[in-house]
Amino acid sequence: MELLDVLKKYFGFSSFKKEQIEIIKEVLSGRDVLGVLPTGYGKSLCYEVPAMMMKGPTLVVSPLISLMKDQVDSLVEKGIPATYINSSLRLEESNERKRNIRKGRYKLIYVSPESLKLKRFTDLLRDIKIAQVAVDEAHCISIWGHDFRPSYLEIHDFIETLENRPVVTAFTATATGQVIEDMENLLHLQDPFKVLGNLDRENIYFGVVTPENEMEELLKQVEKRRGEQGIIYCQRKIEAQAILEELQNKGHKAGIYHGGIKDEERHRVQEDFSFDRINVVVATNAFGMGIDKSNIRYVLHMGIPKNIESFYQEAGRAGRDQSYSESILIYRPKDIYKQRRLLQISELSLERYQIEEKKLFMMDGYGKTKGCLRQYVLDYFKGQEDELLRKENEAQTINCGNCGNCIEEGYMNLTTLAKKILSALDEVGGKCAGHLLKKMLYGIEPRNMSKENQVRINAFGSMKNHKLYYYERLIGFLLQEGFMRLEDESLQISDKGKDLLKGETEFIVSREKGEEKEDYQEELLLALKKKRKELSIIENIAPYIIFHDENLRGIVRKLPKTKKDFFEIRGVGKTKGEKYADPFLRVIHNFLKSKGNLMTTGSEFEKGLNDSISNIPDTYDLYQEGKSVEEMAKILGIVPGTVVDRLIRDHEKGKDIDLSSLFESSLEKEIHESVKRIGVNKLKPIKDDLESKGMIVSYIDIKLVFYKYYGIRKK
Ligand SMILES: [Zn+2]
Repeated sequence: MELLDVLKKYFGFSSFKKEQIEIIKEVLSGRDVLGVLPTGYGKSLCYEVPAMMMKGPTLVVSPLISLMKDQVDSLVEKGIPATYINSSLRLEESNERKRNIRKGRYKLIYVSPESLKLKRFTDLLRDIKIAQVAVDEAHCISIWGHDFRPSYLEIHDFIETLENRPVVTAFTATATGQVIEDMENLLHLQDPFKVLGNLDRENIYFGVVTPENEMEELLKQVEKRRGEQGIIYCQRKIEAQAILEELQNKGHKAGIYHGGIKDEERHRVQEDFSFDRINVVVATNAFGMGIDKSNIRYVLHMGIPKNIESFYQEAGRAGRDQSYSESILIYRPKDIYKQRRLLQISELSLERYQIEEKKLFMMDGYGKTKGCLRQYVLDYFKGQEDELLRKENEAQTINCGNCGNCIEEGYMNLTTLAKKILSALDEVGGKCAGHLLKKMLYGIEPRNMSKENQVRINAFGSMKNHKLYYYERLIGFLLQEGFMRLEDESLQISDKGKDLLKGETEFIVSREKGEEKEDYQEELLLALKKKRKELSIIENIAPYIIFHDENLRGIVRKLPKTKKDFFEIRGVGKTKGEKYADPFLRVIHNFLKSKGNLMTTGSEFEKGLNDSISNIPDTYDLYQEGKSVEEMAKILGIVPGTVVDRLIRDHEKGKDIDLSSLFESSLEKEIHESVKRIGVNKLKPIKDDLESKGMIVSYIDIKLVFYKYYGIRKK
């Protein structure tokens, strides 16, 4: 099987990310790999896909026993033969699995590092030919890492005892320079292919607040985001409990998650959160590991965690769908003393104590820095800690344009953002109509721009992670300050603007106080989310399975007028489009109607919508017009089976439909006879049965018999 086939068949994706495919090819060629790939990147695919293609099994070393079961369950669900061996299994179960390992039944075997010390088990592993050893959370091997685990040091000893050395791959989400060095040396990787992914999470806004009353502040922060999905991390159970109660008093749908609650309860909270049945989870730590929820909009930290690695990993659970998300630290200067006290009473060696203490100081520095918060974290991972501590009080030099210190401190240095806008303008020849420029920067295909042009523009979509009101303000400021000018309704770059692109001047504006401008797009987004929630309840599936937040944003950006427009939105496609166009188009329609003249082209737009919605024919209407199943299928652009499904559903709802009029009636009796003998389990055996007697029947006819005689609706 080809790489892409494996990806599609087992994992349901149709393309790899750039680093994934590079890594996979190296692994398959037999080369060791060291990968530092951010949370949510999909690093497990980098060893799972090769595992499916290699001759022997892959051994995955993973530190988290509690997660192993979930990881393996989810693989098995995808049809991948996988298992795990750790101390949580009963003896019988463990023996059964080991027998199956010997028989070569698995492609992936998950083990804890400790189990590599058990002689009988390692004897077994030596007998089977292991093709790959994948070390997950490989930072655990380093004393400089944030979760040092001494037994990781023995992985290499184990590999040494194997007759044929397998490919060794090591992965982690976050690692400083020192940790990366340790991973390479202590695992004795041989000329590894190194991939250090971009750790920057551009779509996350980072902010720090230092309030007088922290609980008040926390409630204020959550209230601002009422209804959105978020996680609040704090350090102690008792505090988590207090926060939960406050939130519930204020009417927030909240849950709690920490080590002290029962498995069952924890599982329920995770599920309620996955399905958006609750909006906020208050957690001590570990929450979020292993749940693949993409629409978390914000992560709040009440006080500092023990190091930047933990902080960044937790904050990084926000915005995995690449939509705008926020990380807010509620900073309390006294936290560092409490945390240090905890370190002092733990039983760490002196060396480790000193390392952990330094990490804690670095985390505390994040709460105090006046520089760019994003840069602070990225510098930390680049291993510039000492430099950072020294630089602490110096003026900031870098501006990310999307963190509290870069855009909210007295003045705003908006050079980076201004460059995005001006270079887009520059790229299209220095002049462009305002609305086209906006579409370009937000990655919306301008309809009257040729395909060729879109591809050429580097700036295409470069601002899609920024809220729209930033953009509109920015354009205003840029005009005001003379970086560009308005001529014949087009924006034009000025000489001053060109200087900015050359780096000869900066774009700094004083901070404007007051509320954020109301953004009607946000309002529509909320309305679409509400509809999605309703549908998810009806269908009993998680909201993000219907559409990711990013898909909804696409809908907001494109404002589709017709079904066809709707299908074309990224992430919608034909199947989902068919299912959901009607309800979502109606939301847009009603929203625009309620806004009346807010839209410049309002009336025209509304007319288009009215037409398109009334033009979408209903199956039942067509049926009443006397159309045949085939005719209906053609008009609606769907297969005949779906037409019948819809009509059966309408009939079930009590609509007046004569089922026999849809029948190939000459065969009804034979089908019914066959069903009586074979049963109503599946459609196919009935079809086969009749075919063996020389009768060709369609699934539609069988479906109708099922429904007519037994009231069973089959898909
Ligand atoms: Zn910044």
